[in-house]
Amino acid sequence: MNPIDKRLKEIDERLHAKLKQIDEKLLSSAPDRSRSSSPPQGKMLHELRVPKPEEVQGLKKKPFMEEQDLLQAAAYVFHAPHVTSNESYHECASLVLFRPLMDESLVNAMATYEERLIGEKLVLQPVILYYGGDATSARLMALAYAVARRKPGQEKELLTKMATLIAKEMIENEGCLPLERTISILEKAGIEGQLGDEYMLRDGQSFGFGAVVGTIAHELGHHALGHVSGPRENMEISRNQEREADLFASSVVSSSPFGEYLVPGYMLSWLPKVWLDHLGDRDMIDTHPISIERILNFIRSNLGQAERYGFGEKDIEDYLPKEWIKRTRHS
Ligand SMILES: [Zn+2]
Repeated sequence: MNPIDKRLKEIDERLHAKLKQIDEKLLSSAPDRSRSSSPPQGKMLHELRVPKPEEVQGLKKKPFMEEQDLLQAAAYVFHAPHVTSNESYHECASLVLFRPLMDESLVNAMATYEERLIGEKLVLQPVILYYGGDATSARLMALAYAVARRKPGQEKELLTKMATLIAKEMIENEGCLPLERTISILEKAGIEGQLGDEYMLRDGQSFGFGAVVGTIAHELGHHALGHVSGPRENMEISRNQEREADLFASSVVSSSPFGEYLVPGYMLSWLPKVWLDHLGDRDMIDTHPISIERILNFIRSNLGQAERYGFGEKDIEDYLPKEWIKRTRHS
């Protein structure tokens, strides 16, 4: 075995051992926690303040996401020029609390309000809830994408396979993607052995991070644009509001250091949800209705980058289920 292959194998083994460790740690903790969708209680609010980008350390090379990554992603969103240069957005961002819920494996993120008692007064605290399952989904999709980028011609197959695997997990787990399924999904997608390449791992990390930045920006958009008006409940969010939040997110991400990841990041977040909608329970994605028009609107707003990454108007339908396109065009 040549030295490079040997080194890659070592990294691969270390990575695998690390994943197994997480696996065991997760399995030994209460298994039903991963199914609960209510946020954990008792976290001090000040601990969840969004730090400035320079306050958080650089990204570590790893195949999974940690709370620190989500806080860092939120920091880039909340301090992006599109937000800070607008008085009303800036004020909104200073009020919104970002809550990463890493232990919750629901694949979702939402802009909502929580009731808080300050002294005698009940106030509504605007929050963004970001569930760990969404971060896991983003990272798995991004790892598949990192591999796909080195296999020209196989992008569609690899991304569709990963999106389908994630969607099936969500169907089996009531909308959740448990972190302990990571190894098995990477194996089923046939890419688990290829992630020892540090460069590829970093690539997967950047695209996954870009996906998370886009999702947080979209949720901040719902707050900044006044779409969220009541205490926590399942909100009926109109298609128009989805489009507005997407446009807001495009401007935010484009003005952040992650502008280059805008389109691929969005596609990586969306594809598993589209396949979920096609394969299973539509209720699971009701908080963020997705349609072919919504995807096309997004692509047309960011056409240059979309085409550069092979997600142009002509290419995009190859990544989506045919029947889904027909159905969402007519609904
Ligand atoms: Zn939305």
